[in-house]
Amino acid sequence: MSHAECDTPVVAQPTTTSRSRSTIHRRVDTYLQHLRLAHHDQLTSSIAIANTTDSIIHVDGIGKDVSDSGSESDNTSMGSSSSSRADVAPMSTADMQALQLCHNPSTARLPVVYSSHYNISFMGLEKLHPFDSKKYERVHQRLVDAHLLKPTDPHQPVEASPALLRVIHPVEYLKTLQSSMKVAGILEVPPVAMLPNSIVQSNALSPMRYAVAGTLLAADLAAKSMHQVPSSDSSSSSASSSSASAPSSSPSSHISSIRPGWSVNLGGGFHHCSATRGGGFCAYADISLAILYIHAKYPNIKRILVVDCDAHQGNGYARDKLDGVFNRAGIESVYILDLYNAWIYPGDHHAAQAIDHPIQLRSGATDREYLPKLRRGLSVSIEESRAQLVIYNAGTDCLVGDPLGQMNISAEGIMERDRIVFQQCLDKQIPVVMLLSGGYQKSNAEVIARSIANLKQSLNLWQNQHDHDQSSDVAPDSETDSSSKHGKKSKNKEEL
Ligand SMILES: [Zn+2]
Repeated sequence: MSHAECDTPVVAQPTTTSRSRSTIHRRVDTYLQHLRLAHHDQLTSSIAIANTTDSIIHVDGIGKDVSDSGSESDNTSMGSSSSSRADVAPMSTADMQALQLCHNPSTARLPVVYSSHYNISFMGLEKLHPFDSKKYERVHQRLVDAHLLKPTDPHQPVEASPALLRVIHPVEYLKTLQSSMKVAGILEVPPVAMLPNSIVQSNALSPMRYAVAGTLLAADLAAKSMHQVPSSDSSSSSASSSSASAPSSSPSSHISSIRPGWSVNLGGGFHHCSATRGGGFCAYADISLAILYIHAKYPNIKRILVVDCDAHQGNGYARDKLDGVFNRAGIESVYILDLYNAWIYPGDHHAAQAIDHPIQLRSGATDREYLPKLRRGLSVSIEESRAQLVIYNAGTDCLVGDPLGQMNISAEGIMERDRIVFQQCLDKQIPVVMLLSGGYQKSNAEVIARSIANLKQSLNLWQNQHDHDQSSDVAPDSETDSSSKHGKKSKNKEEL
């Protein structure tokens, strides 16, 4: 069943074909084999991932998407490529280490995922895009400053390997990222086209690959913790932890308990990227990959709900849903609840057919309209989807003043939004994975950090012995003075 909360909703249930052993299915099968082998320490050099693809990739110029054969776009001016060749890439030891890091994350540690590698730098060129490319670092630092995290607390992902990315992306798509011009189009920063691709890789795509792995790690943490007592797995996980794991003297020593069933990746949420198409500052499809990954590791999780509250329509994973990526992997359903400004990018009417519960908003929408629709829509979506895991794309570009989101949601409204999502999921005992996604103002990091602090406090997500002898003293950014009361120190409770 579908719902619409606007005058002209685009609602349709996609149908999927039952083609036998599609390309994606073969890759997922191989990936599942990897997981089983990893669990049994049976790594052999003969493992391989099949990377066949029959997709045709059309590449637009700067400012346009890299579109696939499923796109309605007819822009092919920059050339196209196609292949039916089957590449076979042996899985390296490094790849297995990357996967193993996701395999046995310790749920005794705070389920916050972050790497300093997330942050993007282009020798100043990144300032040509309104995106705050240091947002992740700022959120992390604010949480540390507020004593909500120790610097070593977050789980640190390793960089997503080519083999891992090929689980979702055809080789041909990944090859397009070797063109700085193509990446410039995805990032919407035209001067990037003039940079050597080696710099583009190291300064922009590598950070995104870290964030992709972070999304998988966060999803794993949320799913795993729902079924384990936090203190019971520390010994078992330590034996198999990757050497790439964060060095930490005693990361969980100050945490007395963690409520299971949630996690936050302080990055990720590249919701405009599908398996074969990048765009809107999203080069990798971390949400689609996380869906495949979670089902591969936890086969009983077959019904996933994506709650997308970024201001923009989430068209990447939606296109993958329409293309049958998830069905062919054996996933029963990927239900999509998407609240978005229908008057801005991407306006992807094709992808909109995949949205089960669209809530289309207008430019200038306020808390008063937004929050009741979210509360009701989420409740209905949880009921209809019978979700076993929620991926919450918590973009903050709906914050008032955002030049791209063009909505008027207050800082308090975003905090309440996050609380509603977490509370409804946790009350139903559905693990929820929060991704930061969009947010284009310097003030976003402050709002995100305050919201995480609010989640911790209002939902008792974790207990910290420092709560009682240390409180935050984080002054609000000038742009968020409307909510300054939340930034002041309190004797009785920790606030940001
Ligand atoms: Zn957005």
